[in-house]
Amino acid sequence: MSKPLADRIALVTGASRGIGAALALELAKAGAHVIAVARTVGGLEELDDKIMAADGSATLVPLDLKDSEGIARLALAINERFGKLDVMVGNAGVAGASSPLGHIEPKDWDNVLAVNVTANWQLIRTMDPLLQRSDAGRVVFMTSGTAHNTRAYRGVYAMSKAALEAIARTYANETTATKIRVNLFSPGPTRTKMRAYVMPGEDPMTLPTPEEVAREIVPLCLPNFTDTGKMYDFRNKALLSFRAPA
Ligand code: NAP
Repeated sequence: MSKPLADRIALVTGASRGIGAALALELAKAGAHVIAVARTVGGLEELDDKIMAADGSATLVPLDLKDSEGIARLALAINERFGKLDVMVGNAGVAGASSPLGHIEPKDWDNVLAVNVTANWQLIRTMDPLLQRSDAGRVVFMTSGTAHNTRAYRGVYAMSKAALEAIARTYANETTATKIRVNLFSPGPTRTKMRAYVMPGEDPMTLPTPEEVAREIVPLCLPNFTDTGKMYDFRNKALLSFRAPA
């Protein structure tokens, strides 16, 4: 069976569990060598076992994405070992507190901003030269409907995803003349640890699994996916466009 990502290098952040782990496995099954980033070594090792069982290959990178210098060191290491990056998925995220804006602790605000926003900008900053060296660099960032349909008490998370969307669309507009394509993926409620934390009363069995979601992210990572600056809405199975700049 042909593997659409054979010989391609794919970086996935937040690959120790949830959507990121499921996506890393799917990309490896599609032939990519996966660079799996997260803090939890046990989760990364579990992923590695699954990837090896599927005859795939991965490099595990235990890293706190708040460590900007660590991200820069990772880019240097990818450059030395592979000389390019074909796929980059900025999936890692934290939910932050569910509190009125006036009650959010500054430490929590800073943490959500650092992981959900600044780390993804640092990834662009350090990985762009490697993505430029790919014949079809594909970048996907994980967003949330909360960026648009903001609810009470979820302000810090909503702020972070709105900022991430602005960064992603800016990068898409900055790379239109290159071989890089940048898109957003909005999974909607998914059966993960993050969702259980935010909605503890919800029956997780009513939600799609990370595996179901991950399978629909893969097409955005393929060389033949040529759209850029779009958002794929998993729940509505729709590729949404946003107004192009004048
Ligand atoms: P999850 O199960 O909580 O997984 C989050 C991942 O992010 C973990 O692998 C975690 O790894 C990693 N991460 C968190 N902080 C990190 C840090 N400082 N450094 C490195 N890695 C870090 O969440 P999920 O539900 O799969 O969410 C994945 C993405 O989808 C997120 O961007 C989320 O906002 C988005 N999303 C999820 C839902 C949903 O319903 N689940 C809905 C809309 C959008 P470690 O803890 O091991 O570091």
